[in-house]
Amino acid sequence: MWFFSDEEKQIQKVCRDFAKKELAPKAEHHDNEETFNLDAFKKMGELGLLGITSSPDYGGAGLGATAATIVMEEFGKACAGSTLSYLAHTILCVNNINSNASDIQKEKYLPKLISGEHIGCMGMSEPGFGSDAVGMQCKATKAKDGYLINGNKMWITNAQYADVVYLYTRTGTEKNDLTTFIVEKGTPGFSVSKEIHKMGMRSSPTGELSFQNCKVSETQRVGGEGESTIHMMKNLELERITIAGISLGIAQACVDQCIKYAGERKQFGKNLAHFQMIQKMVAEMASETEMLRRFLYTVCYEYDHFKKDNVLASMVKLELPKRATKIALDAIQLHGGYGYSREFPLERMMRDNKLNEIGAGTNEVMIMIIAKNLLKDALRT
Ligand SMILES: Cc1cc2nc3c(=O)[nH]c(=O)nc-3n(C[C@H](O)[C@H](O)[C@H](O)COP(=O)(O)OP(=O)(O)OC[C@H]3O[C@@H](n4cnc5c(N)ncnc54)[C@H](O)[C@@H]3O)c2cc1C
Repeated sequence: MWFFSDEEKQIQKVCRDFAKKELAPKAEHHDNEETFNLDAFKKMGELGLLGITSSPDYGGAGLGATAATIVMEEFGKACAGSTLSYLAHTILCVNNINSNASDIQKEKYLPKLISGEHIGCMGMSEPGFGSDAVGMQCKATKAKDGYLINGNKMWITNAQYADVVYLYTRTGTEKNDLTTFIVEKGTPGFSVSKEIHKMGMRSSPTGELSFQNCKVSETQRVGGEGESTIHMMKNLELERITIAGISLGIAQACVDQCIKYAGERKQFGKNLAHFQMIQKMVAEMASETEMLRRFLYTVCYEYDHFKKDNVLASMVKLELPKRATKIALDAIQLHGGYGYSREFPLERMMRDNKLNEIGAGTNEVMIMIIAKNLLKDALRT
């Protein structure tokens, strides 16, 4: 984009090269085997990408939504599953600790998370509470010198690999009595109770976390009791914007693959590129992807330079994933039987992208947020 800074352009180049070399060649293998590309994750740490939005005081890059979204787009083109794990670590865990934890907690956790020595995850969703996250029932009750945590967290990205969990719990009966803790792997009473198998994002490990009389000290609490809702709200926009970046990468990868195939595949003695219906598909999917790119990065720019806008973040979270799924389906159509086969990466991209319409708030939840905001006066009467 014309307004990217020199630093952002440099990140784009580094990430594009890294994705081609480290992510793309192994994407199919990790999708088939349902395994995590740990090696690439560690190398992201060496490149300084695991703390992209975090403070340089702890090894972070101190950059904004634009830089983080550039990483998501470039990685998303190559392997969306690895990118989702990168997002869960960097944005859902590391960025939340950077924004909300005390200096002592940051000193303790951030350097290892940012170097890649440790892996992080974030636990908000539960088996019975997804869209209605503030209804959560995983409880932290006061005990001698700390708290006892009891309950489960569902759908947690990186669960099986995580050394550190940024965990939301309930500490009272009122809706907003939610409190955050940092829980370490190996704490008695804490385990990964289930590995979850999925249709897409298969190179991103997902699991259920279980807490049974898991004792944590007060020093593990992030902020005061009842402050979780404020913490959640602080980072929601960034989470939504960056996940939309993965969909942008997927859409662009589909367009690139279609242009290539239209020049290679012959039917009726001609390249597919000669057929007007194919031309229409390529022109429309490329135009839509470019429109999405400009929308997303403009919202990123405004987030970094002017203001954080919940409605705009929800709009990009609604539109990018939804349209990228359609683009991936069109790309499959353009490839005919080969598009439907596993010889080409398009069916993986479509399966991967579908998650972005569900995770970090479903399409329907985004519609609710946008509509409630736009219609707030009308809804009062
Ligand atoms: C691969 C994967 C990774 C994930 N990673 C994480 C993670 O790292 N950490 C974490 O905490 N969570 C994670 N999640 C959870 C994710 O955020 C939730 O799946 C999501 O918020 C939806 O919740 P749910 O699955 O319980 O669906 P539900 O909330 O049960 O929704 C079911 C359906 O009902 C619709 N619906 C719900 N409420 C309304 C309403 N009021 N009006 C209209 N429609 C409604 C939804 O849009 C959806 O279509 C992950 C999920 C997946 C699948």
